[in-house]
Amino acid sequence: MRCPFCAHEESKVLDSRPVEDGASIRRRRECIRCSRRFTTYERMDHVPIMVVKRDGRREPFDRNKILRGLVQACGKRPVSMDDLERVVAEVEREVTERGDREVSTLQIGALVMERLRRLDDVAYVRFASEHRRFRDLDMLVQEAETLKERKRREEALRAQVPLLTVDSGQTKTSK
Ligand SMILES: [Zn+2]
Repeated sequence: MRCPFCAHEESKVLDSRPVEDGASIRRRRECIRCSRRFTTYERMDHVPIMVVKRDGRREPFDRNKILRGLVQACGKRPVSMDDLERVVAEVEREVTERGDREVSTLQIGALVMERLRRLDDVAYVRFASEHRRFRDLDMLVQEAETLKERKRREEALRAQVPLLTVDSGQTKTSK
C-alpha cells in the first residue's frame, strides 16, 4: 500500500476493522519511511463460492437451496425456522471462512448434518438419506452405524454419571 505522502511502498497496519456490515475493511496505516498515517479501505473480493456437484458441474453457492432442503427434511417436526436459519448461516460462514473458492455438495451436506443432528433426529435421518441418495448404500449403512454408535456412547456416558456418586463400598459394576 503506497504512502500518499512520500509514495513509499511499505506501511504497517495500526488498526483494522470491518465496515459496512463486513463488506470492506478499514485499515489505519503508518508509513515506514515518513511515519505519517493514512487510512485505506479494502473491499472484500466478492467472487462467489462455487459448489461442485456430484457430476462435476458447478453452480454458485446458494443459501436458499440449503434452507429449502432443511425445510423439507423438517416437515412436521418441532424445529423452528429460526433454528434452520441459524444452521444455514453457520454453514455459510464456515464455507466462507475456509477461504476455498470451491466446496463440494458432499462437504456442505456434512456441515448441515453435523448441525441438524443436534436439532432433530428424524429430520437428520431424512436429510442424511436424501443427501446420500446417490452414494453407495454402504455409506448410508455406515451413517446409521455411526449414529447408533454415537447414541450408545452418549447413553453410556449418561449412565456413568450416577455411578460416580455411588458409595465406593457398594460398587455396582456388572462386568
Ligand atoms: Zn510516507
